[in-house]
Amino acid sequence: MVMLLTGGAGYIGSHTALVLLEAGYDVVVYDNLSNSSPESLRRVERLSGRSLTFIEADIRDTARLEQALTEHAVDAVIHFAGLKAVGESTEKPLAYYENNVGGTLSLCQAMRAADVRTLVFSSSATVYAESDEMPLTEAAPTGRPTNPYGSSKLMIEWILQDLYAANPDWSIAILRYFNPAGAHESGEIGEDPNGIPNNLLPYVSQVAVGRLEQLSIYGNDYATPDGTGVRDYIHVMDLAEGHLKAANAIARASGLHLWNLGTGKGYSVLEAVQAFERVSQRPVPYRVVGRRPGDIAQCWADPRKAEAELDWQCSRGIDDIMADAWRWQSHNPQGYRDSER
Ligand code: NAD
Ligand code: UDP
Repeated sequence: MVMLLTGGAGYIGSHTALVLLEAGYDVVVYDNLSNSSPESLRRVERLSGRSLTFIEADIRDTARLEQALTEHAVDAVIHFAGLKAVGESTEKPLAYYENNVGGTLSLCQAMRAADVRTLVFSSSATVYAESDEMPLTEAAPTGRPTNPYGSSKLMIEWILQDLYAANPDWSIAILRYFNPAGAHESGEIGEDPNGIPNNLLPYVSQVAVGRLEQLSIYGNDYATPDGTGVRDYIHVMDLAEGHLKAANAIARASGLHLWNLGTGKGYSVLEAVQAFERVSQRPVPYRVVGRRPGDIAQCWADPRKAEAELDWQCSRGIDDIMADAWRWQSHNPQGYRDSER
């Protein structure tokens, strides 16, 4: 089976490419490298002992996408490509809608033209309405996201639902990720954000490695056990394996499915920092500052639907996440830039 991964050079895409290659799939990565390095793919090839096809192109180029789908006889698409910085999306809403929503429309048009009807989409728990009721099942109401990034994910979910309603011969999986974190256990591939990281884990590991001075904890006055925000951190390899299971499941029959990919367990910012310090044996200096606009107090998944329907389960815990994040960061202090020089 041939899988095309849009955004496959990025953080989650590269780990998924590795899992797919190891499972025997042929992989085509289609990425414009706007937020990634081709070095990630070289390392995926090295780790798997197999080669993949890389196409450097933009998903908004519908003709190029259609050609790629046809030329490589693609069976299914996993759609990771998109812009993901929440703060930046507020400053550049049009860029986010154009890339994420426009890019997805272009992809669906190319797929229709090439007669490829199997699609796995990277959505996010950010589409859920803020709630005091945890964990979140797939039936929990969606909300009005507080930023254009979140809105773009919800809009794409609606587009895919409408596409499926009109074309019930399509097979679509919408995967709502909770908080992806960690790295492949080899320490060879991992998360390599441009500039100052927005997310907790890359920030913590860059403080630990000495690239950044101090972590700012955004608020300790939430209604949570220690006052800091609670999230469901899922190991990126468990997440990648979820994609393999989802792609297998939807290849069998047409349908539209929603699946949460999370662990079902929430950790506070302070608990996450303590786990990182314990596992890495490195101090993570921090100070508590005000809340970050748009943040919510708590968010964790009920993963039972995915577990039952995909025969999938997270096998890695918070200590594995921290150990693997640290191995990646300490072996590659400047990320992939270390090998590009
Ligand atoms: P990433 O930035 O590492 O990967 C995205 C990839 O898409 C990058 O390689 C980038 O170069 C590529 N890309 C962006 N725009 C493109 C375009 N127009 N054409 C071709 N390629 C393009 O991000 P990630 O963390 O791997 O996230 C993958 C997907 O998962 C994204 O859609 C993201 O919104 C979603 N997601 C991520 C998280 C998270 O915390 N990392 C959480 C929920 C959902
Ligand atoms: N967070 C923090 N400092 C940072 C980055 C994040 O205190 O530098 C907190 C944030 O307020 C939230 C948690 O860590 O409670 C996870 O944030 P992240 O941005 O990683 O994910 P998301 O907000 O999308 O769940």
